[in-house]
Formats: sequence, structure tokens, C-alpha cells
Amino acid sequence: MSSENSSADDVRQVWDVVVVGAGPAGASAAYAAAVAGRRVLLLEKAELPRYKTCGGGIIGPSRDALPPGFELPLRDRVHAVTFSHNGRFTRTRRSKQMLFGLINRPEFDQQLVEHAQKAGAELRTGVTVQRVEQHGSAVPDRRTVAVVLQGGEVLLARAVVGADGSASRIGAHVGVKVDQVDLGLEVEIPVPDTVAEDWKGRVLIDWGPMPGSYGWVFPKGDTLTVGVISARGEGAATKRYLEEFVGRLGLAGFEPSISSGHLTRCRADDSPLSRGRVLVCGDAAGLLEPWTREGISFALRSGRLAGSGRCGSPRRTTRWTRAARPSTTRSRSRPGSEWR
Ligand SMILES: Cc1cc2nc3c(=O)[nH]c(=O)nc-3n(C[C@H](O)[C@H](O)[C@H](O)COP(=O)(O)OP(=O)(O)OC[C@H]3O[C@@H](n4cnc5c(N)ncnc54)[C@H](O)[C@@H]3O)c2cc1C
Repeated sequence: MSSENSSADDVRQVWDVVVVGAGPAGASAAYAAAVAGRRVLLLEKAELPRYKTCGGGIIGPSRDALPPGFELPLRDRVHAVTFSHNGRFTRTRRSKQMLFGLINRPEFDQQLVEHAQKAGAELRTGVTVQRVEQHGSAVPDRRTVAVVLQGGEVLLARAVVGADGSASRIGAHVGVKVDQVDLGLEVEIPVPDTVAEDWKGRVLIDWGPMPGSYGWVFPKGDTLTVGVISARGEGAATKRYLEEFVGRLGLAGFEPSISSGHLTRCRADDSPLSRGRVLVCGDAAGLLEPWTREGISFALRSGRLAGSGRCGSPRRTTRWTRAARPSTTRSRSRPGSEWR
């Protein structure tokens, strides 16, 4: 059913903020808006907790952007990094300092959503947003946005925050432009205690055979998250890299519990962050560090800024872009210095 055909019964109330997507960006936006006293509805197409293809690496800026009182559900603390180049020239560097933390996304994301709910945000799961409309018969006035759900239900909001990930429909509405698209492939491999012990507190970063590609092993207790990433369009070679990587590590004999892939998209410098009363944040805005493809810190920070209403006008949007831009351009030089 189109929004034009939907009945008045579908329209129940006007929310201050509707947030689309309950990943770190959406949960963070919903939390910030609820804390600011807004009536917030958080919409998520999946049922929670949901799996998300991700290494689950939590760097210092991610930790620093968490809501007050949030206990990070760390699965491991990284004190050593092994570097290699396509399996060769292996070197391990150790540190007494914790370099970064590792979490499981279903658990972490669920906990963030619960924080937003405790702050007053309402959650609806299992609902897919089809589109937003800022003009037309579904929109009662210029201060209101219509959020059209799959199935035709229409919700009304004063502002919409698009946090619907890298294939964002809200991003398409805003006109987000991307510069770099990559394909990440990952397997979650349950391992016996002896193997888990070998990886405890240590990650592996392997520079891959294709330009811009790399692979990783992130240990999470009894499971290793093993993944690779490379430019989109090299699907077969990326898959081969993952297979060879897993084989080289002696992990081919262990059956993965999950095997998945996901695209990452990095924004172009002149990509918009808002259109009218609709804002985007996190992956939906293409806010991702282009080398590591680290995105949780950007999702948390840009979500918080979007939810607290500190964007929208051109001046505020510029400030937001500056605050949310990739950390490699301003991080300190030593790896791990960001955690302190
Ligand atoms: C292989 C890989 C490894 C990565 N490793 C790391 C890492 O170690 N550390 C790190 O910081 N970053 C990592 N990233 C990046 C990180 O996963 C993302 O940047 C992060 O998830 C962005 O959060 P988000 O909330 O913007 O989007 P998401 O986490 O993708 O959440 C978007 C949510 O929106 C929902 N949604 C989508 N469409 C709709 C719709 N139409 N209606 C309703 N709901 C919808 C989805 O179901 C989802 O729950 C990795 C990415 C990949 C691909």
C-alpha cells in the first residue's frame, strides 16, 4: 500500500524523533534524543539481538563515546599485535598497556539499545522502513516527515535520523555520496581451549595480496573472529584470500558457526549529512575510517550528535562533520595511544 492510500488510522501520533536502525549509531541517537527529553521511536528491521558482520574491535574513541554507566561487554583485551604480509615477515609487538578491546556485536548492540530504552526511547523491532517523505499527501505540514513502513503503515516525526547501515535507504533520500566501497568477509570459528589460549590477548593483522586489503584474527574467548576486506569487485579473490588465510593459520579444520559478508562504504568529502528534517549518521552517512574500516566510534559519535540535535543547520552540520571525521587524520602516532 502506498502512503497516499494509507488510512488515517495508521497515523497515531507525531514523534519528536524517529530513528531508523538500532545499531550503535541508531541506539546512540535514540539515547541522546531521549536524554534531551524528546519522544523517540527507534525502528529496527531485525529482531534483537541480531548478528552484524564486524570484528568487534573497540578503540578508545568508541569507549569514550559510550553513554554514562555503560559497561563494555569485553570478550578480550588486546595487549599484543602480530603483523604479517600475506602470511610472511611475521612480527609481534607487545604492550603492557591495553591497546583496544573486543566485543561481540549482538551483545554490545543489544546493551546499547537497552540503554536507550531506559532513557525513555520506545523500540519497535521487525519493522522495515521503506522510505521517508518530506512532501506530498502523507505529510501534514512542513514541520513533519512521513516514515513509510513496509506494509504501508505511516509514522510521523518532527525529525528522522537515518542509522540504517551501509545500504541505507535514508542515505539514498539524503543523497549520501560514497568514495570507496569494500567487501568484508568474516567467519566466527569456535575453537578448543588450547587454540583459544594461543590467541588470548593477541590479534593478527595481515596485509593482503590485493591493494588495500587486509585480514585479521580477533579472539573472543572460545571463538575467533577471522575476516578479510578488499575493494568491491574482487569477490572471488577476496574469498580466496579468506580461505588461504584461514588455512595458513591452521584453522581450516574447525567448522565456522557463522560465515557472512558485508559491504562498507566511505563517504565522499562533499557528501551531505542531512536533507531538510532528515539526518544520517554512522554507516548510513558513510562515516568510516577508510584504511581500517573502523566504524563503531563514528557510529557512536555521529549518532549522539544527530540525536542531541546538534546538526541540521549548515553551520552545525560543518561542526558535526569535523567532529565525526576519521581519526587517522588527528590520532596520536603510537598504535594503542587512543585507548588511554
Ligand atoms: C567485515 C567488517 C569488519 C568490521 N570490523 C570493525 C571493527 O572491528 N571495529 C569497528 O569499529 N568497526 C568495524 N566495522 C564497521 C562497523 O561494523 C560499522 O561501522 C558499524 O556497524 C556501523 O554502525 P551503524 O549503527 O551505523 O550500522 P549497523 O551496525 O549496520 O546498524 C544498522 C541497523 O539498521 C537496521 N536497518 C537497515 N535497514 C533498515 C530499514 N530499512 N528499516 C529498519 N531498520 C533497518 C539493520 O538491521 C541494522 O541493525 C567492520 C565492518 C565490516 C563489514
